[in-house]
This record gives sequence, structure tokens and C-alpha cells, in this order.
Amino acid sequence: MDESSFILGVDLDGVVGDFYGAMRRIASEWLNKPIEQLTPEVSFELNEWGIAEYGGYEKLHRFAVTQRNLFRDMQPLQDAPAVLRKLSMHGIRIRIITHRLYLKYVHKTSITQTVDWLDSWDIPYWDICFMKDKGAVGAHVYIDDSPVNVVQLRKHGCRTIVFTNSTNRRLPGPRADSWHEVECLVLNAKEEWTTGTLDLFGASDYNLL
Ligand SMILES: [Mg+2]
Repeated sequence: MDESSFILGVDLDGVVGDFYGAMRRIASEWLNKPIEQLTPEVSFELNEWGIAEYGGYEKLHRFAVTQRNLFRDMQPLQDAPAVLRKLSMHGIRIRIITHRLYLKYVHKTSITQTVDWLDSWDIPYWDICFMKDKGAVGAHVYIDDSPVNVVQLRKHGCRTIVFTNSTNRRLPGPRADSWHEVECLVLNAKEEWTTGTLDLFGASDYNLL
């Protein structure tokens, strides 16, 4: 496995880890509201949970990471670790790309929890990049759930699979509703990259936004 391998750029929150499920449980505690009152159909900023009057997202995020070990204790999304292990066995280089260094003074905790979590679920990776500008990292195919990230990546010509959740349903494909769909799309893309004969993503997909 080296730099000449096919590289898959993988976002963590909302793609490999059940970020919104974990945040919903923590927010229920932080807001002192029954979890049933917090809709799982959230948008990216979680405004549906009424967090603004309690201090807003940054305060909830800091509490979740530093007091509830968000990045150490969240559950993975179904099949994500196992499919990543399979993709790695196909010679695909897994490059984790995450914007978890979101708040000052939480960096050490965020990085430590993230690496511990990846190990504890046996998620293979060769590189890990804590970056906001994901397109600067370099990957043959990306998978992300954030509408802003997907639009930005596609704007810069990066082939990007949307991983479906409530924050991104309006985005055009290619998209995956499950990790088995990710597996198929990524293996097809690798085949396309290897042979240089197909364009399964379709160049027009990038001009829809
Ligand atoms: Mg994400």
C-alpha cells in the first residue's frame, strides 16, 4: 500500500460514526429534555433541538467531547467498520479526513478520542487528516455527509459520494444509503480508475448544484 494506491477519503461524523445519534442522547441530557422530544430529522446545525437558548452548538459540542467522550464512545454506523476492512483488503488506501478540530482547547482530547475509537472498532486507515478544506487532502473518491463539504468538494471536481442522512437529502447523487452501497460504489470507482474506461459518476453530476 503506497501513494500510488487508490485512495478513499472518508469523513467520520455521520458517515462512519453515528454522530447524530450520539449527539441526540447527549443533547437530551444537556437540555434536560426527554430524548423523544428531540427529532432525529435534524439539519446540519441541530437547530431543531432548540439549543440556541442554551448557548448554541459550540457549547453543546464542547460538553459532548470533554464531558461525555463523544468521539470515544459514539457507536459506528451499521456495517461501516466491516466494509472499511473489506475495502482495505482490496488494496484501497483509507484516508480519514475529519474537521473535528472545530473548537479551541479541545484538540488534544478530540485527537486522542478519535484515534482510540478507530482502534477500538478496528477501522483500518493509512492516513488521518484533521482538516476543514477536505479537497486539499487528495483522494480519488470522497465520502461525506455534510452538504457544505459535498458541494465544496464537487465544486473542485472531487468525486464525492453523499452518505445519506437527514441533513443532506436534497443533494443529488451519487449517494449511498448504506455501507453496502458504499462498498459497491467504491469498488466500481476503483475499477474505473484502474481501467480508465468508465465514468460511473458521470461528469454531469458535478454541475447540478
Ligand atoms: Mg460528517
